[in-house]
Amino acid sequence: MSATPRGARSFDAVDLIRKKREGSELTKEELQWLIGAYTTGAVPDEQVAAWLMAAFLRGLSGREVKSLTSAIVASGEVMDLSRLSRPTVDKHSTGGVGDKVSLALVPLVASFGAAVPQLSGRGLGHTGGTLDKMEAIPGWRSELSAGEVLAQLDSVGCVVCAAGAWLAPADRKLYALRDVTATVESTGLIAASIMSKKIAEGTSALVLDVKVGSGAFMTERARASELAQAMVELGRASGMKVAALLTSMDVPLGRAVGNALEVAEALEVLNGGGPPDLVEVTVALAEVMLELAGLEGDPREALAKGAALPTWEAMVRAQGGDPSAPLPVAPVVEHVLAQQDGYLSKLEARAVGVAAWRLGAGRSRKEDPVSASAGARCLVKPGDFVEKGQPLLELHVDDPTRLPRALEALQGAFDFVQEPAQLPQQPPLLLGRTG
Ligand code: URA
Repeated sequence: MSATPRGARSFDAVDLIRKKREGSELTKEELQWLIGAYTTGAVPDEQVAAWLMAAFLRGLSGREVKSLTSAIVASGEVMDLSRLSRPTVDKHSTGGVGDKVSLALVPLVASFGAAVPQLSGRGLGHTGGTLDKMEAIPGWRSELSAGEVLAQLDSVGCVVCAAGAWLAPADRKLYALRDVTATVESTGLIAASIMSKKIAEGTSALVLDVKVGSGAFMTERARASELAQAMVELGRASGMKVAALLTSMDVPLGRAVGNALEVAEALEVLNGGGPPDLVEVTVALAEVMLELAGLEGDPREALAKGAALPTWEAMVRAQGGDPSAPLPVAPVVEHVLAQQDGYLSKLEARAVGVAAWRLGAGRSRKEDPVSASAGARCLVKPGDFVEKGQPLLELHVDDPTRLPRALEALQGAFDFVQEPAQLPQQPPLLLGRTG
């Protein structure tokens, strides 16, 4: 089947599937045609699904990943942020449990004079999405027009909002298809998917937080490094200043997991407090963002003084939210109790993420609603001594019939040792930088 813009070459989808199946490299023109024809519907899901599986099994060369990324960008519009007087810089996280870093980081970096255009998607699976978290704030609105985004970047310096249908529409279709064909976990496909959206968003600089560990997409450090390298190269090839930090995700970040619970914890950070691990990751990413944007400042000191709070409040207000309104609270809070005395040696991020998801904090399908108040709070972290019967975790839920499945997810999530000397070495939070 052919679907060709006037003047462009046409190809046959079957030939391109066969070519990838045999392990050959597709040309830029072939990939541009395939993605363009898929976006318009001229090439159907079943052919692209076959091509995705061939690409998954055979791998994609660096040139193919670059061409695929450009083709996805070209499927929609590119936002023009060049008329802003502030330098633009954004952050993307590959997703983790309790990862509410963007909530404090975005206004923090904007408070130093940057424009931070965070156009986001929603969470899927056990890692939450920033939009779902922000929507826990009464009145806050995620849907903005391109004009509103620009106006807010000018006046406030930052925006967190839904990526419109105009941004990389091919990725929306491809991602949905990958989700149902077991072709998500390919470094090249992930790199092209993430970077096409950031290139289309129009930011000049970007920091990537590539999470590694049981609660992350990438459980192995070598694969996370490979992904970081691929994304940094794609960003640079498009003229973006980009760096990636590899950060550890074996244990939930901070203590809160779930939308309103995470907003409350991000507010603690903006008020100069908050859990030390969350502050450390936020500060490390802010330092790189300021460096890439060519701005000076001490983000740790700014957080300690609450200096980014006015920017947070202005951002929330600009999108219809009330920053002083109470956050939703779950009607039922259940405790998970320690079955023995000992030092906590394991608190598995994935298990806590899945439990919070099953309590209602996350969704299985894109169209599912999420609960603002459901989630979990970790009352202890690895290294803490606990006594038998002591609460380890709070489970917050609107609908108590969800509790048994959440408790099932927590089987094996905790381990204990009797002596501090038996505690395993925790990996450092900051594992390295690429770019
Ligand atoms: N996030 C994305 O946006 N795309 C992927 O492929 C994986 C994670």
